[in-house]
Amino acid sequence: MDLSLLIRKNILNLTPYSSARDEFDHVAEVYLDANENPFENGYNRYPDPYQKAVKNRLSEIKGLPVENMLLGNGSDEVLDLIYRAFCEPMQDNVVSHNPSYGMYPVLSEINNVPLRKVNLDEGFQLNAQAMIDASDKNTKLFFICSPNNPSGNILAKAEIKKILNLKRGLVIIDEAYIDFANTDSWLTELANYPNLIVCQTLSKAWGLAGLRVGMCFASAEIIKVLNAIKPPYNVNELSQQAALKALNEEKHFKSNLKIILNEKIKVEQALDQMPSILKRFASDANFILVRVADAKALYDYLMARQIIVRNRSKEYLCDNCLRLTIGTPEENERLIEGIKAYSKN
Ligand SMILES: *Cc1c(COP(=O)(O)O)cnc(C)c1O
Repeated sequence: MDLSLLIRKNILNLTPYSSARDEFDHVAEVYLDANENPFENGYNRYPDPYQKAVKNRLSEIKGLPVENMLLGNGSDEVLDLIYRAFCEPMQDNVVSHNPSYGMYPVLSEINNVPLRKVNLDEGFQLNAQAMIDASDKNTKLFFICSPNNPSGNILAKAEIKKILNLKRGLVIIDEAYIDFANTDSWLTELANYPNLIVCQTLSKAWGLAGLRVGMCFASAEIIKVLNAIKPPYNVNELSQQAALKALNEEKHFKSNLKIILNEKIKVEQALDQMPSILKRFASDANFILVRVADAKALYDYLMARQIIVRNRSKEYLCDNCLRLTIGTPEENERLIEGIKAYSKN
């Protein structure tokens, strides 16, 4: 694969911004190179532009070298960087599946790059051939979300491999929910596919949505391009410190994850007993998609009880569907009681 054929011409020719810390990243006693305020308050210095401490820890957790990682201000920033690095506005296009994460079409609008949506089948599974048929020589990116939002299921690996093997454009697999799934991450395949990009986040299983730390894993060549166009200090000092602290407390992460997964089983079992739940879709994530007779009525009923769920009814294949995030045991109990009370009224 010749990556230079996929990179936008202006990006290929770009001279990246060179920060003070790019030009001198060793240890010294006096720093008078970045126009910072010298008075120490914990945050008077610019943060590490390459988040080395966080990445070194991630490298241990993920078993991947730091050169294969980029961190963003949430994975939403990472996804935007990918659009901007590879897609020529009004000329290139990207292909994704339907339904999927709502940010892909928004980023496509913002970047003026048409998104071609390919419908999933009734079981929310991916048809690789349909994705390939929707692509052409101007297709730069395929966005695949697995486990998929809002359906919650893992998309079949064999189908995704067909798209990777086509070697037309880059294949981005958004694994925001992978820690909840009982399946290997695509990170294990990174070395086999130079056209693969895996996106993950600290926002879901790691419980750090407020920090805005997204992760991107790809070949060193791809990471280099994204590094060249990212805002220099895109992950702030507070977020880097808090992310490192959380990543060092893996036990806490694992015990919370276990609680959420146990709670999911509990909620699923309760939902399966409820006549008002017409269908519960299988989930590999921390949320459950359910079909009811009147999604808006149940949504409003729960809202009146101070319980907010997500109405996904307008999405393809999601007619009268609500998406229920797994909460604390007490919150899930309130949800279950709420839906039971709704059926009775
Ligand atoms: C929640 C979510 C993200 C996370 O985005 P952040 O910007 O990292 O918080 C990414 N992709 C999907 C599909 C999601 O549902």
